[in-house]
Amino acid sequence: MALKVAMKTDDAAAKKEQKKMRYIQKRRPIFKILEKIKLWPSRSGILHGIKTIVKEGNCMIMETHCHEVIKVRISKNSRAARWLRNKWAERACSGCRIPAWKIAKFANTLFK
Ligand SMILES: [Zn+2]
Repeated sequence: MALKVAMKTDDAAAKKEQKKMRYIQKRRPIFKILEKIKLWPSRSGILHGIKTIVKEGNCMIMETHCHEVIKVRISKNSRAARWLRNKWAERACSGCRIPAWKIAKFANTLFK
């Protein structure tokens, strides 16, 4: 399941993002990564946009743009981190309305 979210777009901002690469350190804490990219890959393969994210003890609580509240434990080798690294997402959440430029930016993000 690789990233299948629509990449072709006429959006000018998205086109601009398609050209540049972004690098994120692989070993950065998952909370920091999520805080930066503001995208959450759900277990069902849907990519959500993160509206807010807060840390609470060893958990993080996120609210997506489609008004879902997700609470997950922070772990060193989390599923979400792995899925983001591998860009595993079936599709983007329609409720979240993630802008095309953001998806383009994610597609061009390398974890090293
Ligand atoms: Zn969503």
